[in-house]
Amino acid sequence: MTEITKTVCPYCGVGCGLEVSPPAQHGKATNRDSQGNPIWRVRGDKAHPSSQGMVCVKGATIAESLDKNRLRYPMVRDSLEQEFRRATWDEAFDLITQRIQTVRLTQGVQAICMYGSGQFQTEDYYIAQKLMKGCLGTNNFDANSRLCMSSAVAGYIQSFGADGPPCCYDDLELTDCAFLIGTNTAECHPIIFNRLEKYHKKNRKVKMIVVDPRRTPTAEAADLHLAIRPGTDIDLLNGIAHLLMRWNYIDPAFIEDCTSNFPAYAEVIRHYSPDVVAHRCGISVEDLETAARYWGQSKRVLSMWSMGVNQSSEGTAKVRTIINLHLMTGQIGKPGAGPFSLTGQPNAMGGREAGGLSHLLPGYRTVKNAQQRGEVEEFWGLKPGQISPNPGLSVWDMITELENGNVGLLWIAATNPAVSMPDLERTKKALWRSPFTIYQDAYHPTETAAYAHVLLPAAQWGEKTGVMTNSERVVTLCQAFRTPPGEAKADWEIFAEVGRRLGFEKEFSFTNSAEVYTEFVKLTCNRPCDMTGMSHEQLQTEGSTQWPHPEKKPEPIYIDSDTGVLSFEEEGGEKSYELGVKSYELKSSTPNSELLYRRSDGTSVPNSKRLYTDLRFHTPDGRARFGAYHSRGLAEPPDPDYPFVLTTGRLYGHWHTQTRTGRIEKIRSMHPQPFIEIHPRDASGLNITDNQWIEVRSRRGKSKFPAKITRAIAPGTVFVPMHWGALWAENSEANALTHPESCPDSLQPELKACAVQLVPI
Ligand code: SF4
Repeated sequence: MTEITKTVCPYCGVGCGLEVSPPAQHGKATNRDSQGNPIWRVRGDKAHPSSQGMVCVKGATIAESLDKNRLRYPMVRDSLEQEFRRATWDEAFDLITQRIQTVRLTQGVQAICMYGSGQFQTEDYYIAQKLMKGCLGTNNFDANSRLCMSSAVAGYIQSFGADGPPCCYDDLELTDCAFLIGTNTAECHPIIFNRLEKYHKKNRKVKMIVVDPRRTPTAEAADLHLAIRPGTDIDLLNGIAHLLMRWNYIDPAFIEDCTSNFPAYAEVIRHYSPDVVAHRCGISVEDLETAARYWGQSKRVLSMWSMGVNQSSEGTAKVRTIINLHLMTGQIGKPGAGPFSLTGQPNAMGGREAGGLSHLLPGYRTVKNAQQRGEVEEFWGLKPGQISPNPGLSVWDMITELENGNVGLLWIAATNPAVSMPDLERTKKALWRSPFTIYQDAYHPTETAAYAHVLLPAAQWGEKTGVMTNSERVVTLCQAFRTPPGEAKADWEIFAEVGRRLGFEKEFSFTNSAEVYTEFVKLTCNRPCDMTGMSHEQLQTEGSTQWPHPEKKPEPIYIDSDTGVLSFEEEGGEKSYELGVKSYELKSSTPNSELLYRRSDGTSVPNSKRLYTDLRFHTPDGRARFGAYHSRGLAEPPDPDYPFVLTTGRLYGHWHTQTRTGRIEKIRSMHPQPFIEIHPRDASGLNITDNQWIEVRSRRGKSKFPAKITRAIAPGTVFVPMHWGALWAENSEANALTHPESCPDSLQPELKACAVQLVPI
């Protein structure tokens, strides 16, 4: 292959477009890695709507990870004490299907579990749902999105009636106030941050507020950094709401016309007076008032968050409390405004569309909803009642059910739970107890491979064609540009072959991923994430496309941005309607409307990049719901025995558990080892010097890190990056310390905070 291949970066949810060309095309000597493999050339795709040619160090170096430490052949063993031996695919498939049948007969289908990944392409996700939830009849499919975005999913569903980030990246350059909470965007979503920072520097009236216990590179760029105590996010958000109410910065018409449950919320925020909130959060009243003033005086506020909000035992409440601020000020559905979750994984969004969590079904449906279950059963040709009405096991529930001996088969794919799960010693012990674990991955060794009976080699980025959806709902076709090494296969092909061998030949008769995608998008018809206008062919010819993108284009609707008059074609004539809310907003009951702003000069501006521009939500009454929450704080607050709060996070160069980035020299030299950040006051109290090794102990385990003494972290709080597993740094695993207490609504564990003690060694 000699031409340039367009694809998307397989690391974070920014979803930067990439162009890949073969090494030989670039003349001179072909670049080779240390093992002699030719390195493909990667550069940003200037035509990609989300990234416009920009990439960070991870995207720029991705090609260097393609050939290192790849799993090339199926491997099997009878017990975890034995060495693996190479097997044929036939042998591996026979073993897996026999084992599935045995577990079905002896323990029942609910003893079968699959744990997948936001690294999947949408086709992989879809086939896994069809196999597990449809053909086998168990909802025990969960993905590592449970550790990443499930609080955002639950928050959107509870507030708006459906999942889906309402904003788009253009809003970064249209906002008056960027409110970043629980997100180190500069390091974790660098290209989004580049756009925001450039705009912020050029427009000094634009405000940037960053809420984070650490002074991160993101916080360095802010007009206002609120270094709140870990676990006080809801106090802060309710405190801002209290001031917005007191200073009359709210939008009563929007609240009246477009929302429900405001009285309950108003009753809650009444209790969050500035002095109380400032005291709880550990900030000054002046800073709290400045944040509320920035928010209240801005016409357009864009809030962004990621793991600092989601990875919490009250994650859903935090998400809804952010959304509340937008609802009370009417800051949604218009350019530059709205709540915007920044997705961690490259295709966690595609996973949500395909139903890739244990309570979801394809097309933004839930297993609990009888009508939605019936729609999927009918579409898949299943008998009524085949899909279980009960949500399956979340990934932490899988761990506890392994402990209880209730799991007969665990299938893990494209994720590394032996590093990324909380309470790692307990997780590892549970994995060790699994009677039969299949581990499907592109790389070997990984920490999780030690707990597998069968290893299946997966094709990865660049070796299979499929789609991914990024944080702003832009869907990109990621085309294969090289053949997989050895006998590796696409994840969806592996799942489909197992399905066929279990007797579902017709259900899994796909010959390529384009056919899989074509079937999947039909299930999105008339759903909030309608993608029926998309296919591999369309994405290839027309480029990356944002949803909703229905096959049948809706009637256009126009809004006059000066007068607030709504008009649309009706029975041949144009009618106008006065609106009860702000002039640039409109109401319409037409789903998926093509919404345009009409300028005063008569031209129209497309506005279909955002959700809820018609101010109608997916709830039964069309209104967005306020969530009324008091702050509960950390699940494990510090105490005299464990006096410090440990917070965990990510570094600019590394990706998650280093399966790829740990093998790239440039990134390894940027971040050679883990560390613990300690404030000088705490360090001096414990006689800790810079680079001294510290044993960090929690109620669950211990780890060792060299100290990095810095004022970037607040006194009483310490920070450790989460990237290092046992393969890379023995006894330096952040998650040996963390706990699994989870949000009751999203089931997302509180990976961001636990209580620890520090012992200098
Ligand atoms: Fe890849 Fe994210 Fe970096 Fe873009 S910002 S190049 S998607 S890691």
